[in-house]
Amino acid sequence: MLQVWRKQEERRNLFRILSTKAKEYGMDLVPLKIKEIPVHEGVRLKCLVPQCEYYGACRICPPNLPPVTEIRAALKYFSQGYLAVLKCPAVKREEVDKIEMVLLEAVGQMEKICWTMGYYRAMGLAVGGCKLCTSCAPLGEPCRHPYRARPSPEGLGVDLTLLARKKNILIKWPPEKEMIFLGLLLL
Ligand code: SF4
Repeated sequence: MLQVWRKQEERRNLFRILSTKAKEYGMDLVPLKIKEIPVHEGVRLKCLVPQCEYYGACRICPPNLPPVTEIRAALKYFSQGYLAVLKCPAVKREEVDKIEMVLLEAVGQMEKICWTMGYYRAMGLAVGGCKLCTSCAPLGEPCRHPYRARPSPEGLGVDLTLLARKKNILIKWPPEKEMIFLGLLLL
């Protein structure tokens, strides 16, 4: 019983620390259970139809990722998730990359905090194809920023819109006055 209480207290403390970090980036953090994360092959298909500019051009986007069945099974490895939510007024297409870079940086920082606190499974993911290089390194060569580059949850088959709506974050497609950028942190 004492052990369970300690574990819960530890998680509450972690949530406080992560929320503080998220706030530094103007973001909110929403805890979620791993079983709440919807994964579907159809999400992966949406990378192809209509075709995303990163499809096949980025080494951490489809089709250069494991099959969705593998991702679904791999999620069972984790015990806790957090949705990182970055809301901002609607911007033009050319400004989206800058916001996604902020999100990537924030998620990376939160992953690092978890890892240094002993959560060795910590893994941060952020929406959008990788923008760390002007063009991605060819598949036969190593990634140029392996510790910073992260696949998007959607590329892995996670229905982020559905997940956000389940958590009362009402994403609208197409976006109207507000845009919402999402990251996923798994422990
Ligand atoms: S860091 Fe560069 S090489 Fe690595 S996935 Fe991103 S764009 Fe590609």
